[in-house]
Amino acid sequence: MIKPASIYETRNIDQLRRELRLDPQSLRRFRNALLKHGQSDSDALSELPPEARDAFANQVELHALQLHSRSDSQQDGASKLLFRTRAGMLIESVILRIATGRTTLCVSSQVGCAAACDFCATGKMGIAQNLSPAEILDQVAQARQALAAEGRKLRNLVFMGMGEPLHNEENLYTTLEALTAPELFHQPPSRILVSTVGLPEAMIRSARRFPAVNLALSLHSANQQTREQIIPLARRYPLDELRRAVSELNRIQPPNTEVMVEYLMLDGMNDSPEAARELIDWVEGLRVHINLIPFNTIDDAPHLTGSGRETREAFGAQLKAAGLKTTIRYSLGADVAAACGQLVRKENRRTAMATAGAPSQQPSS
Ligand code: SAH
Repeated sequence: MIKPASIYETRNIDQLRRELRLDPQSLRRFRNALLKHGQSDSDALSELPPEARDAFANQVELHALQLHSRSDSQQDGASKLLFRTRAGMLIESVILRIATGRTTLCVSSQVGCAAACDFCATGKMGIAQNLSPAEILDQVAQARQALAAEGRKLRNLVFMGMGEPLHNEENLYTTLEALTAPELFHQPPSRILVSTVGLPEAMIRSARRFPAVNLALSLHSANQQTREQIIPLARRYPLDELRRAVSELNRIQPPNTEVMVEYLMLDGMNDSPEAARELIDWVEGLRVHINLIPFNTIDDAPHLTGSGRETREAFGAQLKAAGLKTTIRYSLGADVAAACGQLVRKENRRTAMATAGAPSQQPSS
């Protein structure tokens, strides 16, 4: 049997459309229903002429992922969607129904992560496998379907789930092409945010290709020694190189775009007035806004605790007093283990070991 074309492979789908003698308009209505409006598969397929539906559905893969389970937070507006990939691995996406009504989806770009940051549960999985563009895009398509069923629209997309998006660079770019393509998702690039551990050259390449897509840098410390303690890749990509990269992004991106600097607040590690001073100095002259993140405790890092609310607020106040745009993030979904850093499935490690014989590592650039 011929491998069915993925719904995102526009060239293959167009060829199939000709073979099935489908008119372009009904194909367009079908794609819009599925990808832009989040209608159910059967409602979307009903946009096609009845005689072509079965043949089309048999030759086109509408979904690259299988929904494994869904947990809705009882505390706040977060829902965790757990998906199974064709390779049998589990990945997670999180729907954040933010109080302002702006619904955000947090997507995964890899199973596991090779960056292995000390504070992050995904990095402790010991594997890193790239997700294909269809596997990343289907998280968006299925989340949109889940939200449409409750009368909501998806507004923002953040690459803050499992994985380091810039370690999966080519697939990330193919994904961004499809997300922004008018005939597919038609997502405004300004409502997409790619968060990275900080790979300077890849950040610049990404901004050159998609200048209006927002970038976030997981800085977490403006002190080289401290940063190295919690982020192994900090040794390879020191703070001065990162600073040059952010400055270059400021030149490449539209003038109203700021780079987001993410700063995880860790008790006794990076939350002192001195640490705030170092951060203020580091961002001097850069067009950025700072997002202070409360730490979600993870089982694998019992030696790390989050800074208390008062410390976080004092730190934020010091930054603001120095004239920096600063927001304090609040965390959703802790009760469904969906908050940042908790996106981990121990089963994946077992699956990866069983299939590959050993954990596979994505070579980092
Ligand atoms: N690899 C990318 C994106 C994934 S993580 C990156 O490093 O940016 C998304 C954000 O969650 C990052 O800023 C990451 O540092 C943060 N994060 C990781 N573990 C966390 C934890 N336990 N608590 C709070 N935030 C965490």
